[in-house]
Amino acid sequence: MGAMEPRSAAAAGKDFPYTLDTTCYIEVHEDGRVTQGAGPDAHQRAVAGASRLFAVWPGQWRSDLFAIDDLDEFARAHGIVHDEERTGLADHVHDVHWSLADGEQNPRSQYVSIDLRLACGCSVKDRRTFAAQMREQHGWDLAVTGGWGYHTDANGTTYTFRARRKSLSS
Ligand SMILES: [Zn+2]
Repeated sequence: MGAMEPRSAAAAGKDFPYTLDTTCYIEVHEDGRVTQGAGPDAHQRAVAGASRLFAVWPGQWRSDLFAIDDLDEFARAHGIVHDEERTGLADHVHDVHWSLADGEQNPRSQYVSIDLRLACGCSVKDRRTFAAQMREQHGWDLAVTGGWGYHTDANGTTYTFRARRKSLSS
């Protein structure tokens, strides 16, 4: 097979798995140096034209290389630029009501389950963004991998998160 140009992440739009843990980012710097991974610094360099970002979208049978040619979408997906529509979360201090979840809580476990509601009207569509906001606003350490859940009733939506016990303010 001949060499192909990378595909366009912009063309894939919202389907592009910007935040999938298995998406491999590649940054090609001005001087030709190649590094793996992409965060806010890489975004800044790419916007400034000092590097180009690529990503491998892993597939089951084959993986394709994409050019990250929509840096705004990349920034929103990674929370570098806040995206209220995508995350469901306003850029404000949330009005959080929370309690320890019912059921067994292993007192030796570093993590506990908590139920929380957002009285400010926000909803959690993006757990990483919410976890980052709660870390900034309350010093909480919410798990961003593993199970979480929510249910909606007459009182609104209640989310269940795992949180590092010691990080919770009382
Ligand atoms: Zn809110």
